[in-house]
Amino acid sequence: MALLQISEPGMSPEPHQRRLAVGIDLGTTNSLVAAVRSGVAEALPDELGRPLLPSVVRYLADGSVEVGHVAWECASEDPRNTIVSVKRYMGRGLADATRHPSPYDFVDAPGMVRLRTVSGERSPVEVSAEILKVLRARAEASLGGELVGAVITVPAYFDDAQRQATKDAARLAGLDVLRLLNEPTAAAIAYGLDNASEGVYAVYDLGGGTFDISILRLTKGVFEVIATGGDTALGGDDFDRRLAEAFVEANGLGTLAPDDLRRVLKAARLAKESLSTHPEARIEAPIAGRGMLATPVTAERFHALTADLLDRTLDTVRRTLRDAGLAVSQVAGVVMVGGATRMPQVRAAIGALFGKPPLVDLDPDKVVALGAAVQANLLAGNRSADGEDWLLLDVIPLSLGLETMGGLVEKVIPRNATIPVARAQEFTTYKDGQTAMAIHVVQGERELVADCRSLARFELRGIPPMAAGAARIRVTFQVDADGLLSVTAREQSQGVEASIAVKPSYGLSDDEIARMLQESFGTAEVDMKARALREQQVEADRLLAATQVALDADGDLLEPAERDAIAAAMRELKAASQGDDPRAIESRISALAHGTEDFAARRMDRAVRRALAGRRLDEIG
Ligand code: ADP
Ligand code: MG
Repeated sequence: MALLQISEPGMSPEPHQRRLAVGIDLGTTNSLVAAVRSGVAEALPDELGRPLLPSVVRYLADGSVEVGHVAWECASEDPRNTIVSVKRYMGRGLADATRHPSPYDFVDAPGMVRLRTVSGERSPVEVSAEILKVLRARAEASLGGELVGAVITVPAYFDDAQRQATKDAARLAGLDVLRLLNEPTAAAIAYGLDNASEGVYAVYDLGGGTFDISILRLTKGVFEVIATGGDTALGGDDFDRRLAEAFVEANGLGTLAPDDLRRVLKAARLAKESLSTHPEARIEAPIAGRGMLATPVTAERFHALTADLLDRTLDTVRRTLRDAGLAVSQVAGVVMVGGATRMPQVRAAIGALFGKPPLVDLDPDKVVALGAAVQANLLAGNRSADGEDWLLLDVIPLSLGLETMGGLVEKVIPRNATIPVARAQEFTTYKDGQTAMAIHVVQGERELVADCRSLARFELRGIPPMAAGAARIRVTFQVDADGLLSVTAREQSQGVEASIAVKPSYGLSDDEIARMLQESFGTAEVDMKARALREQQVEADRLLAATQVALDADGDLLEPAERDAIAAAMRELKAASQGDDPRAIESRISALAHGTEDFAARRMDRAVRRALAGRRLDEIG
């Protein structure tokens, strides 16, 4: 969800000890943990100085578990019990899990698949929790204390089940999740884009097995993910595969045994990474029956072998921009994320596409964790060292409003307003002598109540009887820092009040939010028409009712021909308001209003005469 920073000038750094909080990038290929120390975000390395922890978990027969580099080394010997890329299975059912080829023994389970290992069935949540446990221990060892919590990043497209699974994994690992943060937003925060800039940013993330492009819009410190695209089956691993194929061909190897294949892929990966900084590298691997084989490869040849993979990502970038209705020139900056963006040809291609060099100052495989650490530090209540007191806040994901006459929505708090927030609006009664008012709280971007989500209903009673439109009812919406909404309605003259508390942000899943937003973008025009029609219908009803009241009270002021003309105008308005043309209704409304002008003037005279009857002139005025 989008985030905002507001400055709180009144608050000064507290003397209490810093609260330890970390940012965690729980990646498909690699995971890492970062923290803000002395005002700077940094990745926390393991005891051998390595910041990246391969997202690999191996289950052994004796019930023990290996995580990271050690497990990765064993992936070729014990593929079924060595789980790589577990992120792909988080919150996923069997059908999704088996979409990619893998060596695992899946067990169909309600909600999420499980994996059968030598030490029993494991859920992807448990596997991820093993990775998180290692990162938590690493953080507590290097920061010297217990963590108050963590910000964990997830892909922007992750749905509610995937997000919930991530949270559950953290809980299993004994981590308090301060917030889940979208990976592209975290990367943008790491670059400090949230402090300095306004505009549209692209985040190009090429990881080990996945490619994601996200378009973010930043306005007044609020990040909004406006479009996402990508390919869940395209990443750095595919570049390894191309080099492995070249190796197989150069050595006339044919189909490789699984063990050999794993070793060649590992060698190819090392060669690929080396080619990011060297013009030439060697793919070197021992092959059963052939001994150690080595194949030299130049950067140029590597680029040629993989050009189509890079092109596929560029096509996706263009398509995603098109979907968002943006030209490349409208993008203020491109953030590079993912270890595979270290490849110089990727940077060059992105630079050429956007017409400006991409942002590469921060390590692309650390940038997400660094942004998460900045966020965690703020959420834990630590103030930044440079004297600025920033506080991060959530925003309202969908507008909050009230149902008004005709099933229309009056928005009281707009989408993306930052919380806490309070907004009030005045409403009035619709009928003469109305003493109660039904208040219906809704959430959504659409114009009609029927298309929004109903959050709560309550009634305000004891409104003093007044003419329609005379009562003033002030409805206040208040959302506190935890996203709790309370709505209060207060009649202004007598002070009668009614209120209700609702929980808006937890009522909607991210999925629902995404769907509802999508719908409102697609239907804005239809909605405007529907709204115009309803408005005219409500106005027609109001005028017809008022005219009828006037006729009943003072009909004797009219000649029979005048009465007939007004009755005819009323009939025509009634007929028009059954139709679906707001303009026709509008013109009948003005015809009736015009046709009753004289009548209204006569009624006014009569009312004035009545009011004045029996009073002396000096009492008036
Ligand atoms: P994920 O987000 O999937 O966890 P990462 O961002 O850690 O993945 O990226 C992992 C990928 O980055 C791997 O394919 C790895 O080979 C690749 N990579 C890491 N360093 C380099 C490098 N120097 N040159 C090219 N590719 C690299
Ligand atoms: Mg990643």
